[in-house]
Amino acid sequence: ESLLIAIDGPSGSGKSTTSRLLAAKLGLGYLDTGAMYRAATAGVLAEDVDDDGVADYVRGADLRIVTSSDGNTLTINGRDVTAEIREPRISAAVSRVATNLEVREILTSRMRRIIDEHGRRIVVEGRDITTVVAPDADVRVLLIADPDARVARREAELAGKADREAVQDQVLRRDRDDSTVSNFTDAAEGVTVIDSTFLTPDEVVARIEGLFPR
Ligand code: C5P
Repeated sequence: ESLLIAIDGPSGSGKSTTSRLLAAKLGLGYLDTGAMYRAATAGVLAEDVDDDGVADYVRGADLRIVTSSDGNTLTINGRDVTAEIREPRISAAVSRVATNLEVREILTSRMRRIIDEHGRRIVVEGRDITTVVAPDADVRVLLIADPDARVARREAELAGKADREAVQDQVLRRDRDDSTVSNFTDAAEGVTVIDSTFLTPDEVVARIEGLFPR
């Protein structure tokens, strides 16, 4: 039986933690679609592709993703970029690739293929999963949190490798850069908004489980 769980939200909303916990707990696949945009960006930067060439580059690139509930491993044209895609220079450049509509079409169809390959038993996180990639998902959630909480979480993740001001800049700038993809202020019809500001990851998981179809 299908259990396709779509989770959207801005950076630091708790999407990844929640999605992995759910996938591990329920034995579902886990797809991090942000990692796909990040891997495409790593390739674009490594091969010095200019803006005009981005869509052709992504169409022709051999992008592979190994989905596992504790994280996704990605290669582009044979190069493992799993660690690299978390670097700040990728976060800073990713919107340039993600705002390209042709790139979005190409990656969206790959995401749908991966969902089908998992027999629609998978947790998919991103920015437009509830609206574009899988509006027909069994469970659709928009996870939000106050900007201060999101900055604090990102900072904790980076474990002292970046100061608060720099992280704040990055999180807020990406909100702006991504605003053409999703504005996160109003959820689409049928999408449940969960504010994780004052919730633990387990509490968020419990709320999502409360939405499962019976
Ligand atoms: O979730 P994460 O921060 O890793 O996403 C990285 C970037 O990928 C986002 O800032 C956004 O530009 C892009 N993205 C997107 N659509 C998705 C997932 C991510 O445009 N479904």
